[in-house]
Amino acid sequence: MVLAEQVHKSFGLIDVLKGIDLQVMPQEVFCVVGPSGSGKSTFLRCINHLEKINAGRLWVDGRLVGYRQKGDKLYELKDSEVALQRRDIGMVFQRFNLFPHMTALGNVMEAPVQVKRETRAVARERALKLLDRVGLANKKDAYPAQLSGGQQQRVAIARALAMEPKLMLFDEPTSALDPELVGEVLDVMRGLAEDGMTMIVVTHEMGFAREVGDALVFMDDGVVVESGHPREVLTNPQHDRTKAFLSKVL
Ligand code: ATP
Ligand code: MG
Repeated sequence: MVLAEQVHKSFGLIDVLKGIDLQVMPQEVFCVVGPSGSGKSTFLRCINHLEKINAGRLWVDGRLVGYRQKGDKLYELKDSEVALQRRDIGMVFQRFNLFPHMTALGNVMEAPVQVKRETRAVARERALKLLDRVGLANKKDAYPAQLSGGQQQRVAIARALAMEPKLMLFDEPTSALDPELVGEVLDVMRGLAEDGMTMIVVTHEMGFAREVGDALVFMDDGVVVESGHPREVLTNPQHDRTKAFLSKVL
């Protein structure tokens, strides 16, 4: 579903990604862990072309991200073509980023109506189902300010799902939450995984990675230091940098 080959990204003189190689299979829950500043968020942003990579290749669902290849040459896609690619990718951030002036239902309906030009009736029907799926059917008329952080984050997940993405990217979706609210968000993600969604999850929740993850990479300083099955990497890390990191977070 996602293939990265020697992906490089720098900001000015700072090399942030120094040649990332990885492969995410369909329906896989692919966890990314690593210290602050290692490039995890930058890599996620490259996947939906919020950041342009400087070298290497990145494919989502068999298509080159942001470019078209003809022979040996790459041509940048137009903004409208990039927007089309992004439709298939849902993203959930650390901060909830809901539209504050819209209800939960309004938030979930917005993109299908505005971007896909769906009728409000069709979008509403799906939004209600999605709110039910994240356990918030009874909060459909609440505004973000009236919801807890965990509830807001579940609305954010429903909102991303409303575009019927092929791939979901989660960037530390629970790290801004009070501890007692983390579980309800992880439960929704676990449900998504069981339904076969392909997910890349940047997380510090090692319990989730171990129980739900199919694959895990440890990133440090812009490279993938170690990868494997989460249970394998987390219980039997091979590299000193992985060991040092895990000894701090486990
Ligand atoms: P964290 O766990 O704290 O979220 P991270 O692994 O997600 O960290 P990134 O946010 O990807 O790390 O940042 C990696 C490096 O890239 C950092 O040194 C950061 O300062 C730098 N960086 C990220 N975005 C930009 C930008 N737009 N301009 C300049 N530098 C940036
Ligand atoms: Mg980050």
